[in-house]
Amino acid sequence: MIEETPRIDLPTVIEKNPLTGKSTLALVDDDRMFAESFAAYAGFLEDATVVNNTPDGKVVRKVGEDLRRAAEKWLAAEGRPDYFEKYKWEYNLVESPEVNAWCMPGGKIVVYTGILPVTGNNDGLATVMGHELAHALLNHGRQQRSAEILRTVGSIAANVITFAAGADAGTRQGVDVLYDLGSTYLGTLPFSRKHETEADEVGLILMTISGYNPEESIAFWTRMSEMSGSQTPAFLSTHPSNKQRIANLGEAIPNAEETASRIR
Ligand SMILES: [Zn+2]
Repeated sequence: MIEETPRIDLPTVIEKNPLTGKSTLALVDDDRMFAESFAAYAGFLEDATVVNNTPDGKVVRKVGEDLRRAAEKWLAAEGRPDYFEKYKWEYNLVESPEVNAWCMPGGKIVVYTGILPVTGNNDGLATVMGHELAHALLNHGRQQRSAEILRTVGSIAANVITFAAGADAGTRQGVDVLYDLGSTYLGTLPFSRKHETEADEVGLILMTISGYNPEESIAFWTRMSEMSGSQTPAFLSTHPSNKQRIANLGEAIPNAEETASRIR
C-alpha cells in the first residue's frame, strides 16, 4: 500500500478575487481576520468622537451606502453575490483635524472631519471612500498579513538554523518579536504601490456605478498633492499623491465608465 504524502492544499491559500480576476494569497481566513478587525474598530470608536448625526456625518453614510450598493451590483454581475456575506460595512465620521481616512478588513471605514475641506464635494468624498471600500473588497489587509506571515516564517526558519548552530539569546529573542509583528497590521501600515493602484482603479469603478463623477477624482488628488510639504497630511503619507497617480487615474476613467455602463 502506498502511503500518501502530506501536501499543502493550494486552493485554501490562494483565492481568486472576482473583481480583478487576480489570484491572491490568503494565509489567514476571513473569520479570524474580520473578528480581529471588528474588535479593533470597536475599540477605536470607543475613544473617538463620532459625529454621524451632523449633516457631514449623514453624507458620509450616504456615500458609503451608495458605494456598497455599487459593489453589490458589480459582484452580482460577476456571478458572486455571496462574496461579501461576512463583511459588516460601517462608515463613521470622526471629529479630528487629521487629514485622513482608512479602512479595516471586513468593511470598517473611518473618515476624519479634517479631510472634508480637501474632498470638497460628494464626488471628492466618493473618491476617498471608494478607494477605501476597494481596499476592503480586494482583501488587501489579508494579503498584507499573508505576506508578513511568509516573511516571519522565513525568518523563523533562518533563526532555527542559527539557533541550532549555537546562536546567542538575542537571536532567539528575535523569533518572539517576529511573532508579535504578525499581529500588528490593522489599518496602520501603508499598502504597497500595487495595492494603491488597484484600489484607485476599483474605487473609480464603484463611484462611477453610483453615479458620482469620476473626473472629480483627479481634482481631489490634485488638491491633495498640493498639501504635501512640511506638514504632510497623514492620508498623504500612506497614499503618496504624485503626477503618476493622477495620470493613472485619468487613464482608468474610460474603463470605469465602460464597466459602469455594463453594470448600472
Ligand atoms: Zn490606499
